[in-house]
Amino acid sequence: MSTKFSGNGYKKMSINRDAWAMLEIAQREGIETVWDRLAAQEPQCGYCNLGTSCRNCAMGPCRVDPFGDGPQKGVCGADADIIVARNLARTIAAGASAHSDHGRDILETLHIVGEGKSDVYQISEPEKLHQLAEEYGVSIDGKSDQELAAELSWEMMEDYGMRRKKLPLAGRAPAARQEIWEKTGVYPRGVDRENVETLHRTHMGVDNDWVNILLHAVRNSLSDGWGGSMIATELSDVLFGIPKPNSSSVNLGVLKADQVNIILHGHNPMLSEVIVAASQDEEILALAKEKGAQGINLAGLCCTGNEVLMRKGIPMAGNHLMQELCIMTGAVELMLVDYQCIMPSVGETAKCFHTKVISTFDKAKFPNAEHISFDPARGLEIGKQIVRTAVENYENRVPEKIRIPVEPVPMMAGFSVEAILGALGGTPQPLIDAIVDGSIRGAVGVVGCSNPKIKQDLGHTELTKQLIANDILVVVTGCAAVADGKAGLMVPEAADLAGPGLSAVCKALGIPPVLHMGSCVDNTRILVLAAALANTLGVDISALPLAGAAPEWYSEKAVAIGTYVVGSGIYTVLGTAPPVFGSPNIVNLLTEGLQDVFGATFAVEPDPNRAAVLIRRHIERKRAGLNLPAISPDSIAMPEAELTLV
Ligand code: SF4
Ligand code: SF4
Repeated sequence: MSTKFSGNGYKKMSINRDAWAMLEIAQREGIETVWDRLAAQEPQCGYCNLGTSCRNCAMGPCRVDPFGDGPQKGVCGADADIIVARNLARTIAAGASAHSDHGRDILETLHIVGEGKSDVYQISEPEKLHQLAEEYGVSIDGKSDQELAAELSWEMMEDYGMRRKKLPLAGRAPAARQEIWEKTGVYPRGVDRENVETLHRTHMGVDNDWVNILLHAVRNSLSDGWGGSMIATELSDVLFGIPKPNSSSVNLGVLKADQVNIILHGHNPMLSEVIVAASQDEEILALAKEKGAQGINLAGLCCTGNEVLMRKGIPMAGNHLMQELCIMTGAVELMLVDYQCIMPSVGETAKCFHTKVISTFDKAKFPNAEHISFDPARGLEIGKQIVRTAVENYENRVPEKIRIPVEPVPMMAGFSVEAILGALGGTPQPLIDAIVDGSIRGAVGVVGCSNPKIKQDLGHTELTKQLIANDILVVVTGCAAVADGKAGLMVPEAADLAGPGLSAVCKALGIPPVLHMGSCVDNTRILVLAAALANTLGVDISALPLAGAAPEWYSEKAVAIGTYVVGSGIYTVLGTAPPVFGSPNIVNLLTEGLQDVFGATFAVEPDPNRAAVLIRRHIERKRAGLNLPAISPDSIAMPEAELTLV
């Protein structure tokens, strides 16, 4: 099957010129894309969309028809509430597992460093290593960094097990938030424990109280946000460096026609960090010259891209929906994949070109890809082997197939919590002062994926523009960050698009109004920043004028993120409807009932302009709650009836 849009219908798929150019090529040359496969799936299953289908056992599969005359219960007797709750909990467990297993891989690498067995990794941030050691009760007296790495890694491995009553990093949350978790019985204990318990509870015949299932799902998500993901972020900083503001560029224009192009795709920075080192190896650079290339050019995709962009300023080729399209430039010698968000189709796309796809993690193999098993103890050796493979593939290029469609757009990245606090003089106080005096009305994390059901990047960029225009600081991660980068919102000059208050603050600090805080696991940086603001003010996170948004999410990980964000007290607006609408009870719980328990709820609003109104109203309510100068939420014009899907 090939891409078949009528006329220039491909323009409906994305807001970006680079995507249009590649989709036009796909159409002309009959190359299949994610949009073709979506079209082939339509109409998608209504039961699955409502969340009321279940295949948890072999008495099924079952489908429950809550709004019609069909069956109201599955074979076992589960009704729509139970089935929707079980499905949602399993989605959260899968997302939390993905993040947390990523964290485990980084943790095992720290352990290898502690044993002195790595050929390349080292402790890049001893201060952060010491801080973590203190948080875990590991004495630092008289110990070398290597000894500390060994001891801390053993201690952190306990986070994955069942011996803890509380995850140590959850102690970073404000006391009031921790009390809520204690009171509700959702304080996260062990990363693997919560994931496994979700799978147990959702087996047929275990937990059949839908509220009880969902409370555990929140606990499971918290074990991700304040556990596995936070470990991934913190230890990546320890090993590879705390991100600092840097200038880079984004879109398919970052590929270079006269260089060996290597795409780094996936989520885990372990291998991509060594690829950066290997690509600077004199011998390999000389080989590239010999093959006729002017150099070796690295470019990122998805969150591996965000990791190396944040720390090394490596340019970003694009976000999730660009993975097939970037191969169609004909300029990619090698796409290196680790795990998560890598479409199984990329190897098929690559067969139309000279591009090699190399998979690297034994837990993530792909069709039509060569597999090189990554061993962190031999990281540099393997990294060099991979870069050499890319260089050798340069001579297989087909010159008439090289089509790099646009010029890159500049963007800034690298706004870790440490970098943000550094820019503010070491404390959150200046940011709090700006929020108090109203020059910044609040802050919103716009995060998450791209989804072919939504015009690529429209949700992210429209929402972001609305928020900054209304003096709301936006922090971004994941594919949302790449979208805003492409739209030119992540350079200091974008302060001109912000309202007068935010614009003045950004200009004084020389920063963009949209700050790139990292990859998907780095949403934990947003939690840490929110906790720092709350702790400085002596309030819970839920009292702050903050919100989250995932305008174009698709991934199970995004559901885990959204849930731990709400469970941490931050109101969150989803652009893609989650499969819960088959249970009005659960919709009510998620959009209203959670307020009484966690001080925050979900909303679902696909229209980014309406989502901006919801968020602005929420922020003004929170400001009023703190006795800060607030405008009336009702003065933010938009008829209530037009606002919410739920
Ligand atoms: S668990 Fe119940 S609803 Fe699910 S497939 Fe089995 S019988 Fe059907
Ligand atoms: S934001 Fe979503 S699509 Fe993008 S890399 Fe993260 S999980 Fe994958």
